[in-house]
Amino acid sequence: MQVLSCGVLMSSIRRCRNGEYVRNVKKTPVHRTLLHILLIRQVVRQRHSCSKARAMSTTKVQQPWHLALITALLLLGGCQTLPLASTLSYQRGEFPLQITSIGHATFLIELHGQRILTDPWFYETPFTGQHPDPFGLSLEQLPPLDLILVTHTHIDHFDRRALKRLVAQTRAFVGVKGMGEPMRKLGFSHVIGLAPWETFAASPLTITAVPAAHSGPTNSYIIERGGKTVYFAGETAFFPDLVRVSERFPRLDIAVLPVDGLRLRWGKQLAMDAHDAVEAVQLLRPRVVIPVLDHDFSRSLAGLVLTTTSQAEAFKALMEKTHPEVAVVLLKAGGQWGLNERF
Ligand SMILES: [Zn+2]
Repeated sequence: MQVLSCGVLMSSIRRCRNGEYVRNVKKTPVHRTLLHILLIRQVVRQRHSCSKARAMSTTKVQQPWHLALITALLLLGGCQTLPLASTLSYQRGEFPLQITSIGHATFLIELHGQRILTDPWFYETPFTGQHPDPFGLSLEQLPPLDLILVTHTHIDHFDRRALKRLVAQTRAFVGVKGMGEPMRKLGFSHVIGLAPWETFAASPLTITAVPAAHSGPTNSYIIERGGKTVYFAGETAFFPDLVRVSERFPRLDIAVLPVDGLRLRWGKQLAMDAHDAVEAVQLLRPRVVIPVLDHDFSRSLAGLVLTTTSQAEAFKALMEKTHPEVAVVLLKAGGQWGLNERF
């Protein structure tokens, strides 16, 4: 089912032009910015016509070109679509630790019956581009959640619209420090913001934020329950202090690591590539690694500044050469993998 909100945005704009926007328009950041631009345009026009009247001038009004460009980009950015899910339906995990890939960095992690959703991204926008595969589970197919875990507020890891739809079925939200107020506005009542090395212990789960090297405030997380430990990196570049994570958590069962080498087109690397992830494995020494993040930004507005390459297969090949003792599990959207006691 396709859900397209461009029409809503367009009708909002028409209402703006009729001067009724204050009570009619949804207060999303895109709308607010767009309204400000339209308001500024209106004020500029009014001022111009006043001065024109005073001067009895017949000079034609020149519209600033950049306002038109920004408006067009915001229109594009405001269009959100919700693509198809796979034909999978939710199956309760039969292993003590089970992971279902939903797409990109969105996973359903089930740890002894506790359900954690990571970095939700469901709605596509021209800025993010489209998911390469159908979702593992759609928003409607998700079961009740004990926790939503968000590593940072980039739109492909923190989908406000999806989060709003998940409020009613979620017990608690954990994110970076400072996310409390925006999350409460979305409707979450139990919100925990963690700085690196802070722990949220909500029996029977324990979540510890650990440092990450990305862009803006970003956490990675250690999830523990019943003797099982998962490192969810989210989106981070390699950094030498990663060794502190392995010192504090010397026995990781699973590490979920980025391998797409996300970088700015001008150079700065924002996420690990396959070689970085191998180095991270050397420090973290997990039993199993799940490589993630193979999103192609090239056909999106984000692709104007960001670039990635799909390196999951290359990572697996490198690991077979360098760390054959560590299992590498490739999970496409819809893929499910469980860790039983004997593993
Ligand atoms: Zn990011």
